[in-house]
Amino acid sequence: MNKTFFTGKVVIITGSSNGIGRGTAELFAKTGAKLTITGRNPESLEETYQLCLKAGMYPGGILKMLGDVTDEAFIEQLVEKTVEKFGQLDVLVNNAGASVFDLTGKKGLEVPLANYDRIMDINVRSVVKISQLAAPHLEKTKGAIVNVSSIAGFPVANQEFYYSMSKAALDQLTVQMAAQLILKGIRVNSVNPGAIQTNFAVTAGAPKEMLEEAYKKIFSEGCTSVIPLGKIGQPDDIGKIILFLADRSQSEIIVGQRIVADGGSLLKNNLLSMEL
Ligand code: NDP
Repeated sequence: MNKTFFTGKVVIITGSSNGIGRGTAELFAKTGAKLTITGRNPESLEETYQLCLKAGMYPGGILKMLGDVTDEAFIEQLVEKTVEKFGQLDVLVNNAGASVFDLTGKKGLEVPLANYDRIMDINVRSVVKISQLAAPHLEKTKGAIVNVSSIAGFPVANQEFYYSMSKAALDQLTVQMAAQLILKGIRVNSVNPGAIQTNFAVTAGAPKEMLEEAYKKIFSEGCTSVIPLGKIGQPDDIGKIILFLADRSQSEIIVGQRIVADGGSLLKNNLLSMEL
């Protein structure tokens, strides 16, 4: 394996048992980085582990941690065990995220606060907590944080209510952390994807038929009315941007930015206002 910026560097990717996090882990696996991969589902996490080995990693270079990012004790372990095993931390990718769909027909403010609490816990509170714990280690290595946000945080009506609020809060967190942490040499940015083909909606509770219907809607008009690029994104499309933002040799001058990666969806405004 040729030497890269990430050779010997240590990376935590939350939510790497599936989707964008898994795609990102596979890309890091090709760079010579050491990785902590994590998620709740043991089979999915094992699958990511195997894919990383296939991509060229040696088993000693990967730490697998099974747990829930909303569990503070688990997050403490995640950071502690990573530093204990690898001796340092260079990159934190705050990717774990979710929504909880209400399938009873309730909209907006009618949706119970229990959904709000769960969504905010996963998408915002856990990111604050893990970033607090990681910052002292990242200061030592002049490392980077990359948050995985969404275009859903941009203010447009008819979006998924609490999820959109959570991503808007995450965007603000990115900017606030960037301003504070750059003074310690840590760069913070986010990538804000549009539609990416993952299990996200199914995990949020969408029945498969509903999802198929949504994909049909997106693609029925050749897709360009929703995604001008003409295709839905794949996990590694976002992974490549995460690696770019984490790589000081490529993107040192980018600090506190939200990099929209949506195939032009925001230019049309149809994706965000789509009724699922
Ligand atoms: P997936 O559902 O495919 O993956 C989500 C990952 O997060 C899984 O590894 C899951 O692990 C993990 N995760 C979710 N909740 C928790 C939790 N409470 N504790 C620990 N891990 C958790 O979705 P995506 O890959 O699509 O989502 C990744 C990020 O991308 C999210 O932040 C999402 O908001 C964002 N995003 C996705 C878009 C899309 O169109 N797919 C668009 C814009 C943003 P496990 O199930 O094993 O717990």
